[in-house]
Parts: sequence; C-alpha cells; structure tokens
Amino acid sequence: LAALSRVLRLERGRRTAIVFPLQKLERYLAPGTDTARFRLFQPGLAALQRAEALFSSGCGHPIDYVSSAVRMDHAPPPALPEVCFIGRSNVGKSSLIRALFSLAPEVEVRVSKTPGHTKKMNFFKVGKYFTLVDMPGYGYRAPQDFVEMVEAYLQERRNLKRTFLLVDGVVGLQKTDHIAVEMLEEFGIPYVMVLTKIDRASRRVLLKNVLEIQEFVKENTQGCFPQLFLVSSVEFSGVHLLRCFVAHVTGNLPTVEAS
Ligand code: GDP
Repeated sequence: LAALSRVLRLERGRRTAIVFPLQKLERYLAPGTDTARFRLFQPGLAALQRAEALFSSGCGHPIDYVSSAVRMDHAPPPALPEVCFIGRSNVGKSSLIRALFSLAPEVEVRVSKTPGHTKKMNFFKVGKYFTLVDMPGYGYRAPQDFVEMVEAYLQERRNLKRTFLLVDGVVGLQKTDHIAVEMLEEFGIPYVMVLTKIDRASRRVLLKNVLEIQEFVKENTQGCFPQLFLVSSVEFSGVHLLRCFVAHVTGNLPTVEAS
C-alpha cells in the first residue's frame, strides 16, 4: 500500500483508514465532540498525488541520501527547505522514514544503533525540492547528543520549515518527549506530533492517547500544529498524508490543493 494507486482500489472504509487514520477514529467519539482538530489538514486527491510524485524518484528527480553530520559545520549548505524528524530511540523513526521513501527504493536509510557509536544527523535530498533530516534518537546518551547536535541544529538551521516529533502511539507521551516539547517551545520552532505504530495499539488505547495528547497540545503548546498525524509504517496508514504535509510545509503544494 505504499502507492496511492493501490490504496484507491480498497473499499471505502479501509481506504479512509489508510489515508486519514485520525478521521477514522472520529466515529467513536462522544456525540458533540469538537472534531475541528481532526481535519485541519485534509488534502484532496490531487494534492496527495502531487506529494506522492515528489516522494517517487525518477529520471530527473533523484532522491538520495546526501551525507551525515555530527556537528553543524558538517551539515550540507542550507539551500533547500528542510524538515527534520526527531524522537526517542525505538519510536519507529527509521521505519517511518523508510516508509516515506518506499517509492524511492534506492534510498538507503542508515541506522546506527550500536551503543557507543556516535549518532549522526542523516540528510536526504528530494530532488530540487527539499531535504529531510533524520536526527539521532534521544534517550540513549541524551542529553549530550541533544546539546551537541540536536539543539544546535534546531536553533541554527535557517532553512528548517518544520520539525516532526515522533511519539509512540502505543505508550503515548513519555518524560523524554516532554523534554523535547519543552525544548521546541523554548526555541519557538514550529513542529508537529506524529503518533507511530498505530497498528499495534488497540482502538481504545489509541483514542485515549490521541485525546490526551490533543488536550496537552491545546493547553501547553504554542508551536505545535493542533492536528496529530497517525502513522503505521507496517500498514502504510497515514504515510500518504504525511508525505503530503511535508510537501505542503516545504512549499511544494499549491495552497488551494492543501486546504
Ligand atoms: P527508531 O529507533 O526510532 O529508528 O525505531 P525503528 O524504526 O528501528 O523501530 C523500532 C521497532 O519498532 C522495530 O522493531 C520496528 O520493527 C518496530 N516498528 C517501527 N514502526 C512500526 C510500526 O509502524 N508498526 C509496528 N507494528 N512496528 C513498528
């Protein structure tokens, strides 16, 4: 289901669950619940297809790993709009980046998880349109990694358009996630929360986590986009929508299509 053409062949309910997993939860809410935050970013088919084309490599549109960096002065020049992905180790970050790039099979998402090995920021270039950065997972060796690399990157990177903060959809916000939120709020950086591994969570658990995190975002944050993004890298749910949001925040979708 990596490609929309496959998803479009599914029956309607299943299709909605894959493309708009958050909307799929709406029907289980108490009547009268305000669902505005479930549908702020609700692109049409044309926008989803345009985003998919951006994430599909082809002749004249290479998608590739560019380089890794441990320090900001090793980062590639900030020439294109950029998005970055951060989250606790094991949150499903490499799996998600692999799923996003699944239509560009030559892209190698490198993983360095061996304890003791220096973690790096990995830069991927999507044609002439944007770069995507896989930041080191926090938890292990944090806060050193954070101070030395992640904080410096978030504070200094001029072309950074949006930070995607990954949160485990099964366990919800953890202490280290709160630290990341505080940091993003302190820096005044626009970010969005992505709930991962939703195929693993029961509907009850997922709904509980979604509502709790939505409430947290509403009450405690300034820079977080009010709509949560739900993804499963195994089932590809939410992946097409996330591609579309990345295309949107990097200025690669006409605004009318994205609304
Ligand atoms: P990272 O440390 O954040 O890069 O996490 P990984 O992508 O390596 O994922 C950590 C573990 O979670 C691995 O065992 C993955 O197979 C599993 N995982 C990641 N994403 C998903 C998902 O969407 N669904 C399920 N069921 N498992 C996932």
